[in-house]
Amino acid sequence: MVDLVIPEDFCLNDVKPVGKTSHADGENFHWIWGKGDPDGKAFSNDDVKAAYEEHGEEMVPLGIHGTTVAVDWDSCIAAGECFGVCPVQTFQWYRTEKDIPAAECLDATFEGTGLTEASERLDASDKSQPIREHDCTICMACQEICPQGAIRIEAANQEWHEKAAGTFVVMPSSGGGPHAHD
Ligand code: SF4
Repeated sequence: MVDLVIPEDFCLNDVKPVGKTSHADGENFHWIWGKGDPDGKAFSNDDVKAAYEEHGEEMVPLGIHGTTVAVDWDSCIAAGECFGVCPVQTFQWYRTEKDIPAAECLDATFEGTGLTEASERLDASDKSQPIREHDCTICMACQEICPQGAIRIEAANQEWHEKAAGTFVVMPSSGGGPHAHD
């Protein structure tokens, strides 16, 4: 496995999300956090650059999408390996549902109708969107297979997902320690 590009503390403590992608079910969403890797491979990959040019879109920093299933969109080159191994179809190709600049996903709602096979991406400017982060079983397969190390799986980050949402509570039965409420 290659080194992960997303640092362990990307969403901890005083870090605030910069955006949110909502699921049209009205219940689920995932956060978008600060900066991705400033030297992320997406900026230098020829296929990704060509696809952006084809769209007439500028390449801009896109950040980390998801909290327990975190995908660095600045490192994602749409290889699609994560699609092939995920047992619960956490990911969709965002452009196959809405072909919009990735920067506009910062505050958008998706139905979850995007395509979920590796080969079905629109083009190399597409991104692996963890639209069903809430279904993740923490099997770790996507983190292990991503050739860019662009995915970090961390179940404990649910706490920070909930803190950012204002829904985190300390469960009395936990003996005073923090516990995420579901
Ligand atoms: S850890 Fe497993 S279940 Fe979760 S998103 Fe990755 S492949 Fe899917």
